[in-house]
Amino acid sequence: MTEQVKQTEQKPKKRGTLRTKVAAWFLFVSVIPIIAMSYIVVLLVNLANERLVEELETQLVRQKSREVEKFFEETAGVLEVRVPLEIGDVTIVPENQRRLLMEETLRESKAIRSVSLYDVNGQELDRLDREVGFANDRDLIDGSQLEKIIAAQEGRSYFSPVRQTLEGAYISIAQPLKNSTDTTVGVLSGDIALTTLRRDISYGTLGSKGYILFFSDDGNIIAHSRSALDESAIRIGSIPYLAQFAQANAGAASSERVASFTQYASAWGERVVGYAEPLRNLPFVIAAEWPVDDAFRLSREIQTQALVFSLVVLVAVLLISFLVARRVTQPIRILREEAKRIGQGKFDDTIDIKTNDEIQELDEELHDMAEALKQLQQLREEFVFIAAHELRSPVTAIKGYISMILEEFTDTLPGDTRHMLEQVQRANQHLVQLVQDLLEVARSDAGRMKLEVSPQDLAAMAKTVISDLKPLWEEKKLVMTYQEYPGLPSALADADKLREVLVNLVSNATKYNRDAGTITVWHEVVDKTVVTHVADSGIGMAPEEVEKLFQKFYRAENTDTRKVQGTGLGLFIVKQIIEKMGGQIRVSSERGKGSTFSFALPIAPLEAKSN
Ligand code: ADP
Repeated sequence: MTEQVKQTEQKPKKRGTLRTKVAAWFLFVSVIPIIAMSYIVVLLVNLANERLVEELETQLVRQKSREVEKFFEETAGVLEVRVPLEIGDVTIVPENQRRLLMEETLRESKAIRSVSLYDVNGQELDRLDREVGFANDRDLIDGSQLEKIIAAQEGRSYFSPVRQTLEGAYISIAQPLKNSTDTTVGVLSGDIALTTLRRDISYGTLGSKGYILFFSDDGNIIAHSRSALDESAIRIGSIPYLAQFAQANAGAASSERVASFTQYASAWGERVVGYAEPLRNLPFVIAAEWPVDDAFRLSREIQTQALVFSLVVLVAVLLISFLVARRVTQPIRILREEAKRIGQGKFDDTIDIKTNDEIQELDEELHDMAEALKQLQQLREEFVFIAAHELRSPVTAIKGYISMILEEFTDTLPGDTRHMLEQVQRANQHLVQLVQDLLEVARSDAGRMKLEVSPQDLAAMAKTVISDLKPLWEEKKLVMTYQEYPGLPSALADADKLREVLVNLVSNATKYNRDAGTITVWHEVVDKTVVTHVADSGIGMAPEEVEKLFQKFYRAENTDTRKVQGTGLGLFIVKQIIEKMGGQIRVSSERGKGSTFSFALPIAPLEAKSN
């Protein structure tokens, strides 16, 4: 018995519940795909957003490039004049014809504000201003050292840096004047107002923050669409990426000029996605810059939504998984509870599980097992009962005969024989007690313990028991105290059984006491019950002994108890009796100091009569 108890105690602690495991698996299986899916969606959206940004920027830049090219075709193209003669220098052309050519030029493009004609040596021959008209001869200059004249003399088109004037921004263009054999015979130069071009460029926007920058290869910003911008603040040099880009493209053959798409920090310190494209036949670059936060707003929003969605799904899955896990493990928990009850000997306490699967089968097996165990237990109880019952008559007979021999042959018995007979009498007494206890236990187990409750005078009963057991406690020189409780109400109990309880407790208090110790018996009324205490100043018990006290056949194993005779069944019977009568029993004990056994019984209703 003790062995078994120990084994139960040493069972390892449970390692997490099945429900948590099932829930964890469910979560694992469902959450991983959700996270993976969200991740893929975010990735795809990012990619799509990137493509979209790239496409929009390219489109806008291309469109603006076409507009710029058209503008310069209409202005610089106008200055590309060919003299339909085989002459060596434009000076040969009569003045009125030259002036006609210049007037024609101004008429053809409204953006050209003024036009000048130089001979092959760079001497200005004529100048026509849209507002002022032809210049005086003395105002004409020697332009041979001017950069634009040198470039045009060499047969190249020349575009000056942008010039800011009160009337607006200008750019000077110089074109070589060719004769019919493609020889440069002079230079035609014009000042071109960039007003319309700037307006066109300023209409180019991307999203709510993206803009266009239009600048020349030499790094001068010509136009832009960035709102509320202090123009003087724009220096292409402050955008290292674009400066490098312009430089790399400057001077390159038009077919070698390359476009570029990348992310960098703009002149205003924002991170932008930029696309720059050099114009094919002009020394200009158009770049689109789109701040990353605006350009990727869509994907960022989707990212946030995906995150929120994932979290919501996660919480939902968490809840569902716990519900599912509960459903799955509920029958298993019921089974466990059942197995536990069977282990405690409660064979009738079964629940039918209706799951229509192996779990139900297991439950049915468990019920069959409980039934078999119940039968086995009944058989065993029956056996103990019959054995004890059959033993009772012989041991009682032996008891009677020995007493008779000892009494009737007191004088004739030799000393040794008498001594031996006394030993036999003591052993037989133990046997009688054991048989009695076994019968009682068997009755209790089989539910055959018969009780007839009626109001009992506890005080009178206690006093009788104390006095009946006087020889016992006097032998040990114990001081017995009974404390009266005036007006103690009657308790509802079976008279014989109550007496048995009191005899058991008082004799235990005597047996497990020290010589000249004390026993105190008193009553109390607590919550509609009468509590009777039996306290002793004896050997007491350790907490682990107290725990097992009411188990069948339990006896504390120590030097103090070993010499005391007993069966280990008394307190088991006491507990059964008290509980059957609707009461409770408790113990408080300390090793070496003594124990107090207290049992409570219901107070008898007033109208019930005492017997
Ligand atoms: P028994 O007295 O026949 O051995 P019980 O069921 O009456 O059987 O008691 C069980 C065990 O509890 C005893 O063997 C003893 O170890 C312990 N015990 C019972 N009463 C006392 C007590 N008053 N003081 C100390 N130990 C006790």
